[in-house]
Formats: sequence, C-alpha cells, structure tokens
Amino acid sequence: MPKINPALGYEAILDRVLLTEEQLQSRISELATQISRDYAGMDLLLICILRGGVVFLSDLMRKLTIPHHIDFMAVSSYGVGARTNSGKPRIVLDLNTDIRGRYVLLVEDIVDSGITLDHVLRLLQTREPASLDVCVLLNKADRRVVHIPTRYVGFSIPNEFVFGYGLDIDELYRNLPFVGVVKQEYQ
Ligand code: 5GP
Repeated sequence: MPKINPALGYEAILDRVLLTEEQLQSRISELATQISRDYAGMDLLLICILRGGVVFLSDLMRKLTIPHHIDFMAVSSYGVGARTNSGKPRIVLDLNTDIRGRYVLLVEDIVDSGITLDHVLRLLQTREPASLDVCVLLNKADRRVVHIPTRYVGFSIPNEFVFGYGLDIDELYRNLPFVGVVKQEYQ
C-alpha cells in the first residue's frame, strides 16, 4: 500500500465522508444524555484509550451533565503503516488512578477485531472496579474475532478503513471533524 505523503491534504486519500460532523455531534449528544442518566449519583471515571479516543472523549465529556473524572491509557496494536491488528496489544501508558471500587466507562474510538479492548478489559477487571463498561463510537461488527460487551455504541460501520475524528492514517488527519473512508488504494 502506498505511504501517505504528509504534504497532501486529506482530499487526496478520501473516498467519501461516512459520518458528517452534524451526525457525529448529534449521536454523541444522545450518548451523553443516556450516560448522564445511567450514572447519575455515581462516581464515574471515564478512561480514554489514546490516541484515537481523545477527540470522542473531549466532545462526549463536555456533553455530560454529571460530574466525572478522566484518565488515560495507551495501547499499541497496529504496527506503523499497518491497517490490521498485529494481534499483540501492549500497554504503553497505564492509568494514574486506582480503579478498585470505581464505576469505570472505557471510551474508545473504534472496535474492529476486538483484540485491543479485550486485552484492556481483562487487565482492568483484575483491578476490581465496581463496574466496567465500554462506550465506543464506531463498531465494525463484521470484523470481530473476540466478543466485546459494548454498553454504548455510536454507529455501526462497514468493514472499510476509516479516518478522521481522532482516527489516524499513518498518524495524520486525526483533527478532521468528520469520519471518512480511505480510498481503496490506501486501505
Ligand atoms: P482492534 O483491536 O479492535 O482490531 O482495533 C482497535 C484499534 O485499531 C482502534 O483503537 C484503532 O486504533 C484501530 N483501528 C481499527 N479500525 C480502524 C480504522 O478503520 N481506522 C483507523 N484509523 N484505525 C482503526
């Protein structure tokens, strides 16, 4: 697959916009309403998986109407330039927070094979949170190899490589306000 030339604008690799800024923001508002209701009166801790989840987290948390804490983890799954999971997730940044007895909601950009989230969920479960659930913006259900219990899902999307709204392609274009499908030659 050709390498992305960082000097090019995103238009060079965009096949089509899959989810517009309006669609994303409206669905995230719905999710935030639901989460604010479900966790009312609980000490909610949002855990964001860097780096892809950070744009989703920052919009989601600003729409929540309940007090909450945040913390971050980073997991490396894909080798540089790869478009599929290498199958060996590695925790490269761990939490600062003790999650024992906490109500934890993992905030993730996308579930594809499910291998990354499965790894993280198993690790966090050993730390005995009061609850541990998943809020994922994009779900590629067709690609799943491990079952992931997703309590909140933004959108189900087809099996195509997407970018924008936190999701990168060769570490670029995370800042786009929409989610786009990558042209076939870059998939
Ligand atoms: P999984 O372990 O579920 O296969 O993959 C999870 C991670 O792979 C996501 O957090 C994300 O970083 C990356 N990923 C999966 N599908 C896509 C995609 O279509 N586009 C981008 N940019 N990253 C993806």
